[in-house]
Amino acid sequence: APCSLPSRRNVCSSPSMRQSCMSAWAIGQYGTNEVLRYSEEIPVPTVSSPSDVMIKVHATSLNPLDVLMRGGYGAKLLKLRRDPLSVMDSGCEFPLVLGRDVSGEVVDCGSEVTHFAPGDEVWAAVPPWKQGSLAEYVTLTEYEVSHKPELLSHTEAASIPYVASTAVSALVNAGGLCRDTSSDKRVLITGGSGGVGTFSIQLLKAWGAHVTVTCSQNAEGLVRGLGADEVVDYTAGDVAEQLGTMEKFDLILDNIGGDTEQQAMGLLKPWAGAKYITLVTPLLLNTDSMGLLDGAVNAGFTLHTKAIQNLISSGVFYRWGFYVPDGPALDEITKLVDAGKILPVVEAQFPFTQVPQAFQKLEQGHARGKTVVRVT
Ligand code: NDP
Repeated sequence: APCSLPSRRNVCSSPSMRQSCMSAWAIGQYGTNEVLRYSEEIPVPTVSSPSDVMIKVHATSLNPLDVLMRGGYGAKLLKLRRDPLSVMDSGCEFPLVLGRDVSGEVVDCGSEVTHFAPGDEVWAAVPPWKQGSLAEYVTLTEYEVSHKPELLSHTEAASIPYVASTAVSALVNAGGLCRDTSSDKRVLITGGSGGVGTFSIQLLKAWGAHVTVTCSQNAEGLVRGLGADEVVDYTAGDVAEQLGTMEKFDLILDNIGGDTEQQAMGLLKPWAGAKYITLVTPLLLNTDSMGLLDGAVNAGFTLHTKAIQNLISSGVFYRWGFYVPDGPALDEITKLVDAGKILPVVEAQFPFTQVPQAFQKLEQGHARGKTVVRVT
């Protein structure tokens, strides 16, 4: 069978194979927290290509995507990305290890790896189509890995890579911002108190932008401490009305979606190259519910329609932002962290034995930064 992962029983139950097994939290089916299982019989993801870097995981953190993926979100598209030949096989992605962040130590490298060597302390964001980091080991390609900031512990470092990669992809690739072009820009971040928001505030302030944030009243101290210039409490009345009294924005990074999208358009400078970038997109939901082809076509149609409508009516660029693996971008973040310009925002920490409790924490919502899991 063309499954990308051998079944647990095949690989790890015989004593002679024990050395190729590791501890991990994995799921054997999609569902609620009950599907999370601790196992010492998960195949070790060893180096299998010349550009692979195998990392011993010291810490990881959870993202909303982990909760969604546990329930089957994105299953069809991610299965296609993992192994196009297995897309028709039901269940062959299991045991599936979640966890998208890693801070740890290199233990093995492929023959063509030039930037890393065993013993190096590294961090990375694990792409959702790869086996995750709620495990003793994770293996990535060299391009996805970066040297971890020296100033941070593994626990602190694990809070940053996935939200940083997402923010950089959204702000730089979709938003056209960078260190040298941000100082005269007014940026609005909706949902500034969560993982992506708390990182994005700091990145934009390091680049000199003016940053306005929407969040709950009890998060105002946190986001101001990270550098937010203006804060709007979305729980205190009509948020669009409050934002509408302010000078218009050059860019909006939307972490909330829903009604925020319509409200946001009128807050951007018209006919001035302003951009609206949302991280809340229907792509994976569509491919889950409609199938790969119809779902992708429908999502593409939605994106193009909205992009054209907004461009024609107000000269505003409408874009979707996505996480993209990018080790070199993390290298730049390492420099900003070591220069003291970006701080980790760790709200809660859990030991490896309490991964289900960490998921429960995330599911309660109201994140104030990140929830980290210490693996070793
Ligand atoms: P978090 O859960 O860490 O943060 C969300 C934050 O938004 C919380 O602090 C929450 O606090 C706050 N919030 C909720 N409702 C509102 C509101 N109406 N206005 C302002 N703030 C609000 O999520 P992340 O930061 O990790 O991710 C943000 C979004 O981006 C998620 O939907 C995530 O799935 C998505 N995402 C998409 C990616 C992609 O590739 N497209 C990649 C990464 C993330 P409170 O409820 O207390 O106000």
